Amino acid sequence: MAQRKDFYEILGVPGDASEEEIKKAYRRMAMKYHPDRNPDDPQAEVRFKEAAEAYEVLRDPQKRAHYDRFGHEGLNNSGFQGFRNTDDIFSTFSDIFGEFFGYGNRGPRPQAGADLRYNLTLSFRDAAKGREIELELPKNETCEECSGSGAAPGTRPETCQQCGGQGQIHQSQGFFRLAVTCPICQGQGEIITTPCRTCHGRGIVRKIRELKVRVPAGVDNGSRLRLRGEGEPGLYGGPPGDLFVVIHVQEDDVFRRQGQNLVVKKEISFVDAALGARIEVPTLDDPVPMDIPKGTQSGHVFQISGMGLPHLGSSHRGDLLVEVQVMIPTRLTGKQEELLREFARLEDDRPMKKVKRLFKKAKDAVKG
Ligand SMILES: [Zn+2]
Ligand SMILES: [Zn+2]
Repeated sequence: MAQRKDFYEILGVPGDASEEEIKKAYRRMAMKYHPDRNPDDPQAEVRFKEAAEAYEVLRDPQKRAHYDRFGHEGLNNSGFQGFRNTDDIFSTFSDIFGEFFGYGNRGPRPQAGADLRYNLTLSFRDAAKGREIELELPKNETCEECSGSGAAPGTRPETCQQCGGQGQIHQSQGFFRLAVTCPICQGQGEIITTPCRTCHGRGIVRKIRELKVRVPAGVDNGSRLRLRGEGEPGLYGGPPGDLFVVIHVQEDDVFRRQGQNLVVKKEISFVDAALGARIEVPTLDDPVPMDIPKGTQSGHVFQISGMGLPHLGSSHRGDLLVEVQVMIPTRLTGKQEELLREFARLEDDRPMKKVKRLFKKAKDAVKG
């Protein structure tokens, strides 16, 4: 059997090192040689296992004393066989690292509050112009009575007897030692014997909270407003979450959104289209006059700049796009009809029109 390395040497600590020094040294070695950090390095894996084995012995005062007196031989006689499998090593590892990083199950630890989502439906115009909205939020708040501890004022939570405050209990299954969440304290390590009457031991209370939200002009469907710190409260001193207000914009009878532009359809008479006219078009505020020129075609889009939607956080606005739709009358008086027939005859008599028609006939003949 090859000469085994000295455990103190492996961890790089003196023979009289304190428990704390040994723990620190192991933590350093384990961080350095952890297989996750050294993939495909068999040497690191050996060092990692050695360190875990050394620590497993030196952390235990009885084993350590035995080792100090009798060396490796002594351990063999004491029944300590080193690690049986890698699971043992990792259980040692997670024990110590849990404590180190504060995610061990020793007592309640600060937890950040959850983010909340609030779906806010706005009319098209409210979204376009922005407004202040008062939200009613059902929300968990830290219980004022017990300051969130869940224990009645003047009392304190007691250390859980089942797990001794660890929040975990160990179960043996053959070679494996499993750590499971303590069923008595649910992993908190503490038990509230006299629950706060206001929150029934939960540390939080359900409240309806009113919150004013300034919705900026120009928000779109799916826009999210983030209100920092307005989410669920944190637990055990953790920071609160955020509130996300998700905007849903209702359709509008008059306007449609196209990026930052507002699109509006405007019906005009065929007479106005032909002769030109001054018409009124709706805007987000009062209607404005707009001139349409002679001979305007149905479907033509006029642009009124700066009358669209504001860009978020800027004074610049998109345009108002007015799409005209020329309406053909469905009912005509006798007089109107007469005039239109007269108009048609005049069209036919226009010399250029005649020439064009002739060309068209000729073309069709060639095609046909
Ligand atoms: Zn417990
Ligand atoms: Zn309470």
